[in-house]
Amino acid sequence: MSSAHVLGQAVIGLSAHTIQIEATISNGLPQLNIVGMSEHRAKHSRERIRSAIEHAGFKLPDRRIVINLAPSDVPKEHAGFDLPIALSILIASQQVEASRFQGLCAMGELSLTGEVRTVPGLLIAALACGQSGLTLLQSNQAQVGRQASLSPCLGIHHLSDLKRPLSPMTTSNLGANDVPAASDATLDDIKGQQTAKRALIIAATGGHHLLLFGPPGSGKTMLAKRMLGLMAPLTEQEAVEIACIQSVTAGSLPGPTLERPFREVHHSTSAAALIGGGSPPRPGEITLAHLGVLLLDELPEFTHAVLNQLRQPLESGSIDLSRAHYKVRFPANFQLIAAMNPCPCGWLGSRRPCRCSVEHITRYRNRVSGPILDRIDLQVEVPALDPKKFFQEAPTRHRHEHDAAIDQIKQARAFRLKRLQTSPQQTDKNALDPDAKLLLMKAAQTLHFSARAIQKLIRVGRTIADLDCAETISRRHLEEALMLRQN
Ligand SMILES: [Zn+2]
Repeated sequence: MSSAHVLGQAVIGLSAHTIQIEATISNGLPQLNIVGMSEHRAKHSRERIRSAIEHAGFKLPDRRIVINLAPSDVPKEHAGFDLPIALSILIASQQVEASRFQGLCAMGELSLTGEVRTVPGLLIAALACGQSGLTLLQSNQAQVGRQASLSPCLGIHHLSDLKRPLSPMTTSNLGANDVPAASDATLDDIKGQQTAKRALIIAATGGHHLLLFGPPGSGKTMLAKRMLGLMAPLTEQEAVEIACIQSVTAGSLPGPTLERPFREVHHSTSAAALIGGGSPPRPGEITLAHLGVLLLDELPEFTHAVLNQLRQPLESGSIDLSRAHYKVRFPANFQLIAAMNPCPCGWLGSRRPCRCSVEHITRYRNRVSGPILDRIDLQVEVPALDPKKFFQEAPTRHRHEHDAAIDQIKQARAFRLKRLQTSPQQTDKNALDPDAKLLLMKAAQTLHFSARAIQKLIRVGRTIADLDCAETISRRHLEEALMLRQN
């Protein structure tokens, strides 16, 4: 009897687990048995491996072959075990030399003709291998971003390549810093809407969630799309996180430009599509929007079940999914922008007549539950633009509005960083001056604010003070924070 050991990687959620693949070849009726993965997957894998080995000019031994994948309780839900299984058979039957594959981990799907294909989660596996000092053998169809060059990879195009020395993969220079995310959408091409623009700047500076309400066509979606251009450039670490999520969902590695994601979700979206799930577990929209923007248009049209699912990620920046066979945590640290009409017909408060009854309007607004609204720091009106203003406003006046906003945000971020480094105690970080304290107390009493709402107001006030480069939150900062919470 002869045997061989090869390593593979199972990717569950966004983490990789090393899998031992053991092949034994013994005398007996010719057969290929795979244990340790689901019968369904094993059956398909067997056919691909059998055919690929023959096409690559190797020979499948006419003996009893048993493959064991351990540990057996880790789900192996991708086709990437084809390559390590085939390799283990070739080593055990001495068709390739075992010593050449020391310290190697393999991942790739085989075609019937022996070609090696990429599988979802490759980048996550590559990073995990790098951390444990292993080299990943994978399809050289995969474009490896600079993120993955942190870990060494060997590329293989066809199973027959195993006969020759393997070459390190050339890492194309893809990465966050190479490609400045030059967004075409700037604040300059939105007319009027100064309050909403100011809210966008505050939201981008402090990472606050934002609700825009106004009649159809007033530019809510257009405003939301400007958010990406105002957010900080991606750090290397953030780029890796986004690339890992894309590597699981797209099945291939991310394209040449990596920018913050913008996901627009329709109200017909199911709770599962929004938060993720399935088997194997796949990230939902909130994870695809991680480190970017999630836009929920027509917020009251979403069902309660869907909106309630947003509570955990809005608080913690992640989502826990547990099903019968797995438990995963996906990151979901997104900036929420919600948009809604002021009433069911949409025209309340605009120049067109609104035919909705008071009851209808109340019911419509109540559909957005309090706990969700409580978590949205900034709530501002986007009124329909007065046609006169549309033609009056000189386009040159605001040409550099966008650049000015970017400068302001940059300055505020630098100020905040310095403030957090020098401020000795947590309590000092949100210091209010006496006037501001008085205003907040009065407002909280008359408007019946919850403790969370008060906290959020202080947070927004703090961001506004940062934009002012002010050490303490003054009455003026709080007044603006209150004004930007009109609901
Ligand atoms: Zn109406």
